[in-house]
Amino acid sequence: MNILIVEDEPKTGEYLRQGLREAGFVVDLATSGPDGLHLALEGQHDLVILDIMLPGMNGWQVLQNLRNQGRQMPVLFLTARDQVEDRVKGLELGADDYLVKPFSFAELLARVRVVLRRGKTGQEVTSLHLADLELDLLRRRVTRAGRRIDLTAKEFGLLELLMRRQGEVLPRSLIASQVWDMNFDSDTNVIEVAMRRLRAKVDEGFDVRLIQTVRGMGYVMEMPESGACSGA
Ligand code: CA
Repeated sequence: MNILIVEDEPKTGEYLRQGLREAGFVVDLATSGPDGLHLALEGQHDLVILDIMLPGMNGWQVLQNLRNQGRQMPVLFLTARDQVEDRVKGLELGADDYLVKPFSFAELLARVRVVLRRGKTGQEVTSLHLADLELDLLRRRVTRAGRRIDLTAKEFGLLELLMRRQGEVLPRSLIASQVWDMNFDSDTNVIEVAMRRLRAKVDEGFDVRLIQTVRGMGYVMEMPESGACSGA
């Protein structure tokens, strides 16, 4: 999942970027209103964390511009001003949530996850399923046939992406940009290695393999067609 932070205070911005990266997100950071708007319009962010008082253009203007241009990604406002009018104004403009400074990182992460689970439909999704595999987004836990599977933050992010878009062939370039902050051109087999580890944890020891390779195209998560040989 990709998150854009728009925050002009260097300490806060870095702190958030670092923490969210450690939690498995791909993070962009902008330090002014215009830069934030530009990145949000150019990129593929699942969530924008937006400070209100920003140089160049304030958070409300950034949000208004995004909505005017049809961008519906969820927006979480950060504000130092805990005032009713601010909240009302932001919510009217289409913000999804508020966090009043100072806040703890744990609190921010919890809000981020709630907003992401709610997604664009407005309905909160708390778990993802495929066959006997379950991803519990609330407790960040994965089980298959009731058995607990321990994943790293990156592996969880990878599996979440595959599960959210099950049935869809995901090219490596998309996985690279969504789960790792890198271009496909990078001369690295990090995706193959991670996919192998994830498969070992999710599919090994089970009759049905849920993660499929589509040669020359990418990966897809789905129930294999009967008789099909999979997992190559
Ligand atoms: Ca600020």
